[in-house]
Amino acid sequence: MTEIIDGDAVASEIRAGLTDSIETLADEGTRPGLATVLMGDDPASETYVNMKQRDCEEVGIESYHVDVDGDAPAEDLYDEIAALNENDDVHGYIVQAPVPDHVDYREVIRRVDPAKDVDGFHPENVGRLVAGDARFRPCTPHGVQKLLEAYDVETEGADVTIVGRSEIVGKPLANLLIQKADDGNATVTVCHSRTENLAEKTRSADIVVAAAGAPELVDGSMIGEDAVVIDVGVNRVDADNEKGYELVGDVEFESAKEQASAITPVPGGVGPMTRAMLLYNTVEAASLQEGIDVEL
Ligand code: NDP
Repeated sequence: MTEIIDGDAVASEIRAGLTDSIETLADEGTRPGLATVLMGDDPASETYVNMKQRDCEEVGIESYHVDVDGDAPAEDLYDEIAALNENDDVHGYIVQAPVPDHVDYREVIRRVDPAKDVDGFHPENVGRLVAGDARFRPCTPHGVQKLLEAYDVETEGADVTIVGRSEIVGKPLANLLIQKADDGNATVTVCHSRTENLAEKTRSADIVVAAAGAPELVDGSMIGEDAVVIDVGVNRVDADNEKGYELVGDVEFESAKEQASAITPVPGGVGPMTRAMLLYNTVEAASLQEGIDVEL
């Protein structure tokens, strides 16, 4: 029987654990604070930001929000970032991507105080992660690690193929999984759009992580027998329903399930983990900034 990996359940366990850490912080007079910054009015981004705020309320993190007009000059966004860097109530914040075309996202990230960079995208945090001294692990890769751990999927000595080399998923996940650590020690192959013989590389893996943004790219014929399949992809495709679309992953679930020993669904797999790990990083940020030890 193929095990369906329940990201909602694991994420809710992580949130429950965080509630204890948040109580410890409260006993010392600190309430962790997370701010979201949204430039422009992209509806999907608005939904993500709202979800993040709701998640905060649920576990007792104070949430703040800053809106910046989509047509405003980049300097307006930089001013808000500078203010958040100075705001002691805000322990962590994220600038929701994508930003408008006239704003350089890399420059935005460079301006975030690395101690408040709960996305883990600042070059200092990326460098620390690569050096094996991670501060904030980027939420999606960290969530994938926690899912594997929750289902006792051994990474040590495992052949892992990651499809996708983005800065937010593929690259940091590859870096985390090759670390000399209990949740690392894997042998990792990272694939991308120029990879030749993709199917060969996925088929030979013990663990396949699909993070390409290509609907149902990885089907059952590309999965080795009893492999573990982690589908990071979230893609809107046209559908004959009320909304006019449905969400599908980067994996063709039904055929992959036939081959896999365990597989994440979309939705309900990696997505909830990403959200939970943002809360985790916020608690970590508060603990570091206030010098209060909490269990994480
Ligand atoms: P990006 O578009 O930044 O990167 C996609 C990567 O996949 C690139 O490296 C690209 O190659 C590679 N790729 C694209 N098509 C193919 C293909 N046909 N064969 C092989 N490689 C391919 O995407 P993200 O990493 O930001 O996101 C990936 C997916 O994960 C998206 O669906 C996104 O919505 C989802 N996502 C989900 C999250 C969650 O919480 N569940 C969080 C973050 C993302 P190249 O570099 O050569 O262009």
